[in-house]
Amino acid sequence: MPELRKDIVTREWIILAKERAKRPSDFSKADREEIPKTDPATCPFCPGNEHMTPPELLAYRRKGTERNGPGWWVRVIPNKFAALSYEGTLEHKEVGIYDVMSGVGAHEVVVEMPEHDKQLFQADKKQIEEVIWAYRDRYMALREDPRIKYILIFKNYGVTAGSSIAHSHSQIVGTPVIPQKIMSKIRGVDQYREYVEKCVYCDVIDWELQDGERVVSENESFVTIAPFASRSPFHLLILPKEHCSCFARMDRITIADFASILKDTLVRLDKCLNNPPYNYTLITAPVESDQLENFHWHLEIIPRLTTPAGFEIGTSIYINVTPPEEAARYLREISVDEGECKTG
Ligand code: ZN
Ligand code: ZN
Repeated sequence: MPELRKDIVTREWIILAKERAKRPSDFSKADREEIPKTDPATCPFCPGNEHMTPPELLAYRRKGTERNGPGWWVRVIPNKFAALSYEGTLEHKEVGIYDVMSGVGAHEVVVEMPEHDKQLFQADKKQIEEVIWAYRDRYMALREDPRIKYILIFKNYGVTAGSSIAHSHSQIVGTPVIPQKIMSKIRGVDQYREYVEKCVYCDVIDWELQDGERVVSENESFVTIAPFASRSPFHLLILPKEHCSCFARMDRITIADFASILKDTLVRLDKCLNNPPYNYTLITAPVESDQLENFHWHLEIIPRLTTPAGFEIGTSIYINVTPPEEAARYLREISVDEGECKTG
């Protein structure tokens, strides 16, 4: 019989279709649309083509090289097709019964490496650390903007996940409102604390490490789990073991550990599911409330192996065809060369 499971934070239900359980090999690569290969000569993210993008906001570059020229190893630029505008004042008005706000904010692209044909999971750990430093530096800069209330860092990988450019990159969006989805996580954390007087994510970490069934891998500072109420096959969370509301507070050692587990997790997904499309989102406390210590930041990875349809759209109840216990086991069994993360 299928089983309904409730997300311990958002209280959303999912349906686990156990009888229809799918294995990694059931998610065929043939169904996937590949990002068209492009020529580095015409790629806006390749070194030498810096003039094809808006001027850079941040670049880690070799000494003696010039801004907006080659010589960088991570580069952040405004998104040419930005969802929100850097210019203008934040105005809020009512139109009859409706609310309207000016579309100010930020929308940036993090070019993760100079190489055109390499993907994040193939980059060495040091390079991934540099990408995380860039996330942190841009987060710290954007949080100074009083118009911005929330900053989301995310990555779309593969056509199904919404990416159209092959050169490895992620994005940062600063919004003038706190998104409802984030609010529902904050409310969930607060409500759990009211009843249990503990952080729900800290409790999840304790429970999962003890139980072990849904643990994919861990290191000194982080653990990757397949959440109990996984919304889709191979849905994963990377959680810092130590309670912390804002990712930008990570110190050097923790950033190195984060890079290490992120690489470990992405390599496992690649090997297990044959280069699947995925989205990851870094969920941290809202800008103004990161003194609000209750929140527990995390990175959520959603491989895009199934397509939400009418039922999911109508109800927000997702039907998942791979139990998280099985997803975690498949991923644990993958052998990862670097061996810096141990499996549960
Ligand atoms: Zn390129
Ligand atoms: Zn916590």
